[in-house]
Amino acid sequence: MRKPIIAGNWKMNKTVTETIALLKEISSKDLSKNVEKVVIVPFTSAYSAVKELKNTDIKVGCQNMYFEESGAYTGEISPLMLNDLGIDYVIIGHSERREIFKESDSLINKKVLSAIEHSINPILCCGETLEERENNRQEDKVKSQLIEDLKNISKDDIEKVVIAYEPIWAIGTGKTASSDDAEEMCKFIRDLLVELYDSKSASKVRIQYGGSVKPENVSEIMSKDNIDGALVGGASLKADSYASLINF
Ligand code: PEP
Repeated sequence: MRKPIIAGNWKMNKTVTETIALLKEISSKDLSKNVEKVVIVPFTSAYSAVKELKNTDIKVGCQNMYFEESGAYTGEISPLMLNDLGIDYVIIGHSERREIFKESDSLINKKVLSAIEHSINPILCCGETLEERENNRQEDKVKSQLIEDLKNISKDDIEKVVIAYEPIWAIGTGKTASSDDAEEMCKFIRDLLVELYDSKSASKVRIQYGGSVKPENVSEIMSKDNIDGALVGGASLKADSYASLINF
């Protein structure tokens, strides 16, 4: 049985002071125990977030990391630094990193391997552009991303990876993929995992949908067989809305 996982990606929002205030509000809410709850905060907020959520079952994630442990990589954050903070999850290959910061699949693969090696669960993002969707190339795109991003991830480790299917045209645009389209792609991803690993391993991997998920559409999305969670940007930034997502 796959435990649902709902993660709020705060992106480049919230100062430390605002983080503490929002987390106090979130943790005072009645939140389902049956859902794995994650807040994915900016690096500057991570220490305070872990401290603030110490006595709760809400986990803290970061939005990126470099694959090396230390060295001359100005501006980067290492897995050892995240370990020291007590970070459980890290987003790897978000479309904003791929598109704006030109991260390649081979870099993303190194980051996924490094996260696993350091016991941080990667939330690996994949998804097609609007143009690819309009040309019916969404499956080719996601397949080629995942084959490269998951290179050398073993059968034992694949269940530690959460895969977030996020069509780029639906992120932050207010346009959501229909729940049937989202399910079709998440099923496609699970079938690909059967091909790359086997059906037992594939059945253990949690696949999230992301792209303008909000309280009004979350239960419909979560009702689908191959969708085990959501990666949510905008709608995760308010305590009431985050709580409604968790209690779908
Ligand atoms: C995201 O940040 O991954 C995301 C899906 O954002 P939004 O929910 O705002 O579309």
